[in-house]
Amino acid sequence: MQTRPGICNRKRRFAAREAAEAVALAADVPLRAYKCAVCKAFHLTSRTKGLRVPRPPA
Ligand SMILES: [Zn+2]
Repeated sequence: MQTRPGICNRKRRFAAREAAEAVALAADVPLRAYKCAVCKAFHLTSRTKGLRVPRPPA
């Protein structure tokens, strides 16, 4: 997924995927670590596909 520079600057940055995933596991919401193409570090996203998460079937 593409990361916009503006998004990158606002997000938390992790030097290692392990660090990002540790935080993701501790969070209350599902988060996923991904490598940022802008800063080459890792960020967390709550959007697993880089798009809006479709409403789960009722
Ligand atoms: Zn970044």
